[in-house]
Amino acid sequence: MPELEIQELVEAVTRQVLDRLMPAGRAPALPTGPYDPARPLVAANWKMSCASLGLEQYLAELAAADRAVDVVIFPPAVMLSDMARAVVRVGRQDFRVGSQDLHWEKGGAHTGELSGQLVRAAGGRWTLVGHSERRGAGETDGQVSRKLRAGLDAGLSVMLCVGETLSQRRDGSTFRVLRNQLHAAISGLSPLLPSPARLAVAYEPIWAIGTGEVATASQVQEAAAFVRRVLEELLGFGRARDTRVLYGGSVKPTNAAEIMACPDVGGLLVGGASLAGSSFREIVDAAGAGISGRRRQ
Ligand code: PEP
Repeated sequence: MPELEIQELVEAVTRQVLDRLMPAGRAPALPTGPYDPARPLVAANWKMSCASLGLEQYLAELAAADRAVDVVIFPPAVMLSDMARAVVRVGRQDFRVGSQDLHWEKGGAHTGELSGQLVRAAGGRWTLVGHSERRGAGETDGQVSRKLRAGLDAGLSVMLCVGETLSQRRDGSTFRVLRNQLHAAISGLSPLLPSPARLAVAYEPIWAIGTGEVATASQVQEAAAFVRRVLEELLGFGRARDTRVLYGGSVKPTNAAEIMACPDVGGLLVGGASLAGSSFREIVDAAGAGISGRRRQ
């Protein structure tokens, strides 16, 4: 048996034993190991909005953003191909564009839906799945899982969103909710995942999305570490270490650096503050600076 598989097996058994010993609902005590901080990932979710000053102006403001950061923009679907072309025009071929959702079927009679193949044809390279606003509109865990697989199958990278409601946080079920959402989406995925770089998980507490209320750095770190630990169970240690865990929920230029200082956070998913090129650029730059600060420590 190859050395990596033996190591993963030992870690999985250790974790199961620790799970039995750990009282339900408590934060994990396991050390999470160093997250490879090489390249943070910062994503803009425009939802059903457009940049107020237009696409060209937006990208002109964003073009000088830190090149050590991976940037993904999720515009409304009708703007996908324009955005994919425009990033090339401003000399940022490294920026990636993606869809805010996708359907699990490759094609057929699904009015209003978008397949992974159509996203790719429009120049998209990423897709977002399981955003709380879609879950809130009735999307089930099973559908999120099918979407995730369909995205990978179409050659896209996938950003999976997970997160608890305010009442779930208050009644102490945050970790149970996160574990259930991750298991439902990722169980059995390992053989289908060509590389951990093709998956990112965004921890987005629902109570912090669009509300101006940001999770504290210790809440973010605790949840991100927990997500990474569940990823270790599901994907094995090596792949989990290389899967980026992002935070999303009222991120702004003023709080991005503090969130990026959390050791298990590998990037940010930004809604409202991504609509202006200047503020999104500040967030991207803060993520880059936060990672360099972590490397110096
Ligand atoms: C989001 O929509 O994923 C999000 C995090 O929004 P906001 O930054 O506006 O809270």
